[in-house]
Amino acid sequence: MTKIISKDIHCALCGAPHAQRLIASTSTFGNPDLDGRPAGMARSTLSHWVQECPNCGYCAAELSKAHPSARALVQSDSYRALCSDRSAPALATRFLRAALVREAAGDLSGAGHARLHAAWAADDAGAEQLASQWRSDAADALLASPGSTREAGDWRGWQAACVVDILRRAGRAVQARQHAERILDGGASPLVTQVLRFQLAALASGDMLRHTVDQALGRPEPAPGRRTLGDPLLEYLQQNHGQLLTQAERKAMWMDTVQTQEGPRWLTDDPAVLSLLTEGKAGLGRAIEQRLRAELAGELVINRCPKCGALARTSKARQCRQCPHTWRDSPV
Ligand SMILES: [Zn+2]
Ligand SMILES: [Zn+2]
Repeated sequence: MTKIISKDIHCALCGAPHAQRLIASTSTFGNPDLDGRPAGMARSTLSHWVQECPNCGYCAAELSKAHPSARALVQSDSYRALCSDRSAPALATRFLRAALVREAAGDLSGAGHARLHAAWAADDAGAEQLASQWRSDAADALLASPGSTREAGDWRGWQAACVVDILRRAGRAVQARQHAERILDGGASPLVTQVLRFQLAALASGDMLRHTVDQALGRPEPAPGRRTLGDPLLEYLQQNHGQLLTQAERKAMWMDTVQTQEGPRWLTDDPAVLSLLTEGKAGLGRAIEQRLRAELAGELVINRCPKCGALARTSKARQCRQCPHTWRDSPV
């Protein structure tokens, strides 16, 4: 659930006190859009990502903090114009002012993200042309900012891949394609490679619509609720012995495959996970059971039907799911 709390703060520029509403916690169930916009409840918390001082018009993620450059900036004509701009969605103009604040402080990446957030606010308001313009501005700032984060593992290349999507949705297909090819040449993770191939196909067909990571990976949009593991032994191990699983085993359990030109492949290049999955999800379950049996000796109880050998639903169940057999607490 999203939890919003109220906090009394003072504007770093004019000192005016405000009660600001802040996100204490939220959930991002599911994978993001291809431009990084989160799924789940976090998606609808956008209005809490930027604060505005009603007294002086200063906008920032945290009003109680300000870079020394901010004081002169909020007096500037371009900033004042945004304060009184009624032609754009109000939330978007807050993000645009926050972008100017970041720019003045020399933070191009922060400015780029603030402009992208303005585009999301425009998306939500149905202001397509503004959204496209601000995406284009966001892409310019992000392309000019020094390659930001150290990304590792399965999302290696993701930040750059988001810029491909921002360019595509801004109608800048040529640059989007060039950028995608650069990232592929530089070596992205299998997951991000798949996302970029989807981008190249979308660009080839002139598609400028919103898409999600799940669509790019060819998997169904997750239904709200619990995702299932698809293998009965893995389900059992997760439910009854989840605390005994290693990080690699957990990761392998949830790993998906994608179809590529070279055939299906796992969406990771983590060697520990790949070696667990050499015999697929069923083999993974067997390997985990074997490891737990070796380490726990007689303590591990995998509850199987004494008659047909099918897995019971839980460690306490005394009724078979496959055959009509029920049993008492006899040793199994
Ligand atoms: Zn203020
Ligand atoms: Zn049975």
